[in-house]
Amino acid sequence: MANTLIAGGGIGGLAAALSIAREGNRVTVLERGDRFAELGAGIQLAPNAFRALDLLGVGDRVRDRAVFIDELRFMEGTTGERVTGLPLTGAYRERFGNPYAVVSRGDLYQPLLDACRADGRIELLPGHPVTGYTQTAGKVVVDGFEADCLIGADGIRSAVRAQLVGDGRPRVSGHTIYRSVIPMDRVPAELRWNVVTLWAGPKWHFVHYPIGGGRFLNLAATHDDGAAREVAGEPVARDLVQNRFPGLSATARALLELGDEWRTWVLCDRDPVTTWVDGRVALLGDAAHPMLQYAAQGACTALEDAVVLGRVFPDLDAYAALRRERTAEATRTARWLGEHLYHPAGEAARDRNATLAALSETDLHDHVAWLHAFDLAERIPSDAVR
Ligand SMILES: Cc1cc2nc3c(=O)[nH]c(=O)nc-3n(C[C@H](O)[C@H](O)[C@H](O)COP(=O)(O)OP(=O)(O)OC[C@H]3O[C@@H](n4cnc5c(N)ncnc54)[C@H](O)[C@@H]3O)c2cc1C
Repeated sequence: MANTLIAGGGIGGLAAALSIAREGNRVTVLERGDRFAELGAGIQLAPNAFRALDLLGVGDRVRDRAVFIDELRFMEGTTGERVTGLPLTGAYRERFGNPYAVVSRGDLYQPLLDACRADGRIELLPGHPVTGYTQTAGKVVVDGFEADCLIGADGIRSAVRAQLVGDGRPRVSGHTIYRSVIPMDRVPAELRWNVVTLWAGPKWHFVHYPIGGGRFLNLAATHDDGAAREVAGEPVARDLVQNRFPGLSATARALLELGDEWRTWVLCDRDPVTTWVDGRVALLGDAAHPMLQYAAQGACTALEDAVVLGRVFPDLDAYAALRRERTAEATRTARWLGEHLYHPAGEAARDRNATLAALSETDLHDHVAWLHAFDLAERIPSDAVR
């Protein structure tokens, strides 16, 4: 039995705590916030996330609160024409063995938190910002706590990563996102679609989907405006958001105009690195591989990390070796999607539309298969499991 410290009680940190504790270890989660909570709006969960959640024992609780959507719909944002839709029912569910869903962040976080609270091997300590670590023979020491190992799950601006990798501030993408959540009863009945809809325009895109069991609509509009300053969750005026997307076609504009109490972020990520481990310390989730949200996989892959870590624990090198390549590819794919799928203009946008429209349902499923499937048996050779 190993004593483990986890820096950060976000989705990745709590999932890791569950996974490590389920293998018979004691875990202490040090969270800098004064309570364990997940703020923010909606989140998309692909089948790989449900597979991981099931292995963590909370899949059904998340399913209870999820909205199972029918399609990922891609629209030409300036003309309002439908380009394509990736069906998520029938053949998709059969192939991936799980649904694609959208949830409020709290509806993903709460089941993880409840499961941690119910596990006597897990201690949750809010109000404990981690500043760094030292390693002695056989132990790691973190701000007065001593353990056999430390998992840095403290997000994109991780203090553990600052010491372990030392790659400075995150990369500022220059993309500004505006987010709002509104009650569904404000949305005209004919626009209450059970899909994730993305309207793509020149240097911008607008996404919306239902959350909270269908009681709310999550709105997220992104503009590649070259923003250079890191911004996280600042309130922003309604008028400013509406004026930022002048080319938006009528239906999308009607939905954007319903938004209020907008908040803004400037999106950041980091280049993939190969160093995830320093002796008894390893990184997980956004601390290890922060990615733009364009593939909707940051949290999904953090959940996968947690499952793999638990299975090979305490072999941190085996964990990193199993996770580095897949998460680096997801990080690169997210950047590629922003540049080549969501934000092109003119001829490039017309080419994109023609290419997408020509894809069959199976073609579309083939494109996402590597990401949406999480085959644990394939990823963890039996000799790596302790
Ligand atoms: C706009 C947007 C949309 C997204 N949409 C999706 C999506 O649809 N699907 C998806 O899968 N992913 C999505 N993501 C990505 C997802 O939100 C993240 O990948 C995920 O939340 C990472 O979880 P984490 O636990 O690794 O990090 P975080 O959620 O950042 O949690 C880190 C935790 O550590 C704590 N902490 C920080 N520093 C310290 C410290 N020094 N000491 C102790 N505690 C500390 C923080 O308070 C926090 O609780 C999106 C991201 C953004 C920005």
